[in-house]
Amino acid sequence: MLEGERKQGQFPQLEMSHLLYGGKDQFDKFLERQHFFDTNPMFKVNHDFYNKSRQDQILLNAERTVEAMKKLSLGDPNYYTPNVLCPQGIFISTVHFAMVIPAFQVLASDDQITKWMTSLKNFSAIGCYAQTELGHGSDVQNLQTIAVFDKQTSEFVIHTPNIEATKFWPGELGLYCEFALVFAQLQVDGKGYGVHPFWIRIRDKETHKPLSGIEIGDIGPKMGYAVKDNGFMSFDHYRAPLDSLLNRYIKVSRDGKVERQGNPKVGYGSMMYMRNILCDQYTKFGGRALTIAVRYSLYRKQFKDDNKQEIRILDYQCQQQKLFPLLAEFYACVFGSIKIKELVNENFNRISQSNDFSLLGLTHAVLSGAKANYTYFVSNCAEWCRLSCGGHGFAHYSGLPIIFFEMSPNITLEGENTILNLQLARYLLKQLQHIVSKPNAVPEFFKFLSLETAKVDDVTTIDNLITLLGLNCAILTKYAAQKLMSHTDMKESWDTKSGIALAKAASTFIPYFNMLCFLDTINNKAKETKEILTVLARIYGITMLLNNMQGLLLKNQLNSQQIKTLQDTRESLYPIIRSNALCLVEAQGLSDNSLQSLIAPKEGDVYMNMYNFASQENSLNKQQVHDGINYIKKMREVNAKL
Ligand SMILES: Cc1cc2nc3c(=O)[nH]c(=O)nc-3n(C[C@H](O)[C@H](O)[C@H](O)COP(=O)(O)OP(=O)(O)OC[C@H]3O[C@@H](n4cnc5c(N)ncnc54)[C@H](O)[C@@H]3O)c2cc1C
Repeated sequence: MLEGERKQGQFPQLEMSHLLYGGKDQFDKFLERQHFFDTNPMFKVNHDFYNKSRQDQILLNAERTVEAMKKLSLGDPNYYTPNVLCPQGIFISTVHFAMVIPAFQVLASDDQITKWMTSLKNFSAIGCYAQTELGHGSDVQNLQTIAVFDKQTSEFVIHTPNIEATKFWPGELGLYCEFALVFAQLQVDGKGYGVHPFWIRIRDKETHKPLSGIEIGDIGPKMGYAVKDNGFMSFDHYRAPLDSLLNRYIKVSRDGKVERQGNPKVGYGSMMYMRNILCDQYTKFGGRALTIAVRYSLYRKQFKDDNKQEIRILDYQCQQQKLFPLLAEFYACVFGSIKIKELVNENFNRISQSNDFSLLGLTHAVLSGAKANYTYFVSNCAEWCRLSCGGHGFAHYSGLPIIFFEMSPNITLEGENTILNLQLARYLLKQLQHIVSKPNAVPEFFKFLSLETAKVDDVTTIDNLITLLGLNCAILTKYAAQKLMSHTDMKESWDTKSGIALAKAASTFIPYFNMLCFLDTINNKAKETKEILTVLARIYGITMLLNNMQGLLLKNQLNSQQIKTLQDTRESLYPIIRSNALCLVEAQGLSDNSLQSLIAPKEGDVYMNMYNFASQENSLNKQQVHDGINYIKKMREVNAKL
C-alpha cells in the first residue's frame, strides 16, 4: 500500500540517513544494533506488556538488560546507543552509565579513577546519582544532607537532618544500586565548604540489604517510567571512609586540612555529558513518533472525494499542518544536535589537552538552551503525533503514549527547562554587554545581538529567515535587559520582575541557532537533497517566526502583509513535503520492532494488526468470563434493594 508513496520520494534516501545520524559509520552502527534487537526473541515487542503489573514490567526489563549487555556496550556514547531502540522502557544501566560514570571521570582523582573505573564499567559496582532531595532539586547549593568530617576517625558522618533532606528521585536507587554518588554539604571543623559528591556503598554486597544507618526504597508509580526504580534514601549518622569524597578539586587530609585545587568549573563537564545525550539521542524519539503518525496518516482514510474515493488523512491540509512543521522541526533539531555534539567534544578536548576553558561558557549556554528547546520539542511532538492519529493514538498499541511518557520527564530532569533558559539568558546579557565594550570577544553564534533592524524584501528565504530570527532574539534580549535594569535590586528584579522577559528572549535563540545548522547542512549537498532540505528549513524557519515574533512586532520589523506571506508560503510548501513525507521519516531507518506500533508497519494491514492484538494477545481476554463479573452481580443486588 505504501510502495507508491515511497516511489514519490525525490531525494536519495541513504544520503539523508547518513545526514540524520552524522555519517555513514554512525548509521551502519545504528543498523547493526537495531538488527540485534530485531532478531533476538527477547526484544520482540509485545503490546500486552502494558497489561503487566509494574513488578512484572521491572523484572522483564531487567532480563532484557542482561540480554542486551551480552552483545552491546550500553555505555558507549560514540554510537547511537539503544535508548531509542529500547523495548518498552529504558534499560537499568542508563543512569549509571550516563550520569555516574561521567561524574566520576570529572570529579574523582586519578587514584580514585584507577581504583573504581574498571568495576564501574564492568558493572560490578553499580551506582546512582543521588543529588535531588524532597525539599530541593534545582537549587543544588541549598541541599541539606550533611557530611561532617570526624577528625577522631578520619571519616565523614553522612546525615539526613530532616524529612526535606531525604534524597528523592534518583533513578536506579530504589531497587538496584549498591553504591550512590551522594551530594552533601561538606563540613570540617564547623565550617561549610559547599556541596560535594561522596561515593558510598549503600547496600550490602552479599544480601543487597541497605547498610545499617541507611533507609532506601522506591518512590512509587509515576507518569510513565514504570520500569525505572526512582528511589528515596536517608542517612542516620552513616560513617563513610575518607576517600569516599571525590577529591579531584577538594581534598580533606586525615587531620582535617581542607585544600582546594584545579578549576572546579570542570564539574560542569558531567552535566554537559547527560544534556548532550538528551539533545543527541532523545531527539530521535520525536522522529519515531513522526514515523508512526505519517505512516498511519497514509493508511488511514476518512470521507470520500468527488470521485467517491476515500481520502488519506495525510491529504487533508489540516493534518499536514499538524505534522509537517514538526517534521521540519525534527530535522532542524537533529542537525542542531550534531553541531552541539561537535561543540561539546571540542570544549572537552581543549580543557583536557591544554587546560583551555575558552569554549566552556559558550558550550554551557548553547547546551542549556538546546536541552530546553529539544526536550520541549520531543514531548510536544509525541503529543501532537498522538492527537493526529485519532482514537488509535490513545492506545498503547500505537506506540505513541510510551514516547510521551518516557520523554516528558526530560523537561524537568538534568536541569529544569525554565531554569536552563534563564542560564542562557544570563549568557545572552553578557554578550549584549560585550557587543558594545569588547565586540571581538563575542562568539560568532552571538554576533546577531548587534542587530537593530533588518530590511528584507522576501521574508521567506532561508537567509532572511535567519536574519529575522536573530533580530527577534536580539530585540527580546534588549527588552529583557531594559526590564532587568529598570529596578535597583538586580537579584529581586531577576527573580520577580524580569523572569518572563529573560526566559522568553532565551527561548528564541535556539530556533536561530538551529537555522544556522540547517543552512550549514544544506550547503554542498546533492541537488535533490538540497532541494528538499531547503523546503524543510523554510517551513521550520517560518514556523518558528510565526510562533515567536513578539520581538519583531515590538519594533515594527514585521507587518501584517509579511505575516500573511509567511503563512501562505508555508502552506504552499506542504504539497512538496506531502510527496516526500514517507521517505523523510523512513530515512531514519527504524524497523517495525523499533517503532513498537501496530498502526504504522512498513507494510501490512493495520486493522488486522489491531484486531489480532485485541482478540488474541490482550491478556484481559484470556478468561472468557472475567472475575469482575461478580461485582456486576453485587451491583444488581444493591440496586434491587433500592
Ligand atoms: C524521571 C525523573 C528522574 C530523575 N532522576 C534523578 C536522578 O537520577 N538523580 C537526581 O538527583 N535527581 C533526579 N531527578 C530529579 C530532577 O533532577 C529534579 O526534579 C529537577 O532537577 C527539577 O528540580 P525540582 O524538582 O526541584 O523542581 P523545582 O526547581 O522545584 O521546579 C518547580 C517549578 O519551579 C520553577 N522554578 C524553580 N526555581 C526557579 C527559579 N530560580 N526561577 C524561575 N523558576 C523557578 C521551575 O521552573 C518549575 O516550574 C529526576 C526527576 C525525574 C522526574
